[in-house]
Amino acid sequence: MADHFYRQTWVDIDLDAIAYNIKQIKSKLPQQSDIIAVVKADSYGHGSVQVAEKALESGAKMLAVALLEEALELREAGINAPILVLGWVSPSFTSVAAEQDITLTFYQKAWLEEVMNYSFKNKLKLHMKWDTGMGRVGIRSESELTDILHVIKENNNMELTGVYTHFATADEEDLTYFYQQKERFTKLLSSFKEQWQEPVAVHIGNSAASIRFPKEMHNYIRFGISMYGLYPSKAVKNENLIHLKQAFSLHSRLIHVKNVPTHESISYGRTYITNDKEWIGTIPIGYGDGWSRKLQGASVLVDGKRMPIVGRVCMDQMMVRLDREYKVGTEVTLIGEQKNNRIDMDEVADYLGTINYEIPCMINNRVPRRFKG
Ligand SMILES: *Cc1c(COP(=O)(O)O)cnc(C)c1O
Repeated sequence: MADHFYRQTWVDIDLDAIAYNIKQIKSKLPQQSDIIAVVKADSYGHGSVQVAEKALESGAKMLAVALLEEALELREAGINAPILVLGWVSPSFTSVAAEQDITLTFYQKAWLEEVMNYSFKNKLKLHMKWDTGMGRVGIRSESELTDILHVIKENNNMELTGVYTHFATADEEDLTYFYQQKERFTKLLSSFKEQWQEPVAVHIGNSAASIRFPKEMHNYIRFGISMYGLYPSKAVKNENLIHLKQAFSLHSRLIHVKNVPTHESISYGRTYITNDKEWIGTIPIGYGDGWSRKLQGASVLVDGKRMPIVGRVCMDQMMVRLDREYKVGTEVTLIGEQKNNRIDMDEVADYLGTINYEIPCMINNRVPRRFKG
């Protein structure tokens, strides 16, 4: 989105916080472990290209996205760093990836056999995904591994450059299952090494695993949520292993302020009735921006103080009860810091009964991102 915008609602992205968070994790990693910056879903709603560039500048060596589209967007922006697509790409589109030097994930024999029918100018780079217990995608057994390695050995248009797995519970207090997955991975890895002599990149850890076990992450970590300054869970946050800075903050301005008499209703359905003469402010954000209707009753910051959202959240606007009169144009902070008070991503997530990951993804691109740093 352009630097200039007309509306009174915006997101600030603190790119220095991204750099800071990368520096924090880097200082915990051993020399042989590098960082893959996970910038899928528009960098978790933070802005894909800007975050990717900052991450690379701050020492990340590779980028990961979910879709081929997301990888192409980065290439079109002139980013030449290695990019790994974590999701499934149809064999019929593999030539696009090969042409743009985009690494794909694979885990199906039939997929490989189909791709072998295509010829590429440059070899298609591939990382193999192992399902050690996430139950999502990946090969699950040693026999599957042996089978698939036979197929890839027979071709010369693809190059196996990495193997990886993903943990289901690395962020939980109870790490029993995490250790089971790690054990399965170790077994598969030793079987793999017996059958495959070429060097490949090995990576297993998301933010949670890499914050907790930085010395056990092999060649790369896949650093997502914590690059944005958010903790993967309360359990990880409470362990105090790393200090992070939240990069995303959401702001708006009062566009109308009025004094409303007692027993008057506010917004659709008359779910809020004034108790007294009350100062009511209107803010130009609503569920059309991804600011959920379920946030009725939550707070925003005005003048560093918490003010409740009253009445239904509309598509483009909502109302808050103010403690006094404020001028039209007064800044409102919905997520982030204002005058030494703050509303964390975690607070909004808790209110909605979800995880912090979902909140910045939810604020859609109708809300412009303003980059700093
Ligand atoms: C999204 C994703 C990550 C990043 O996880 P965080 O918890 O955000 O660090 C890592 N690996 C895979 C396979 C993913 O899909």
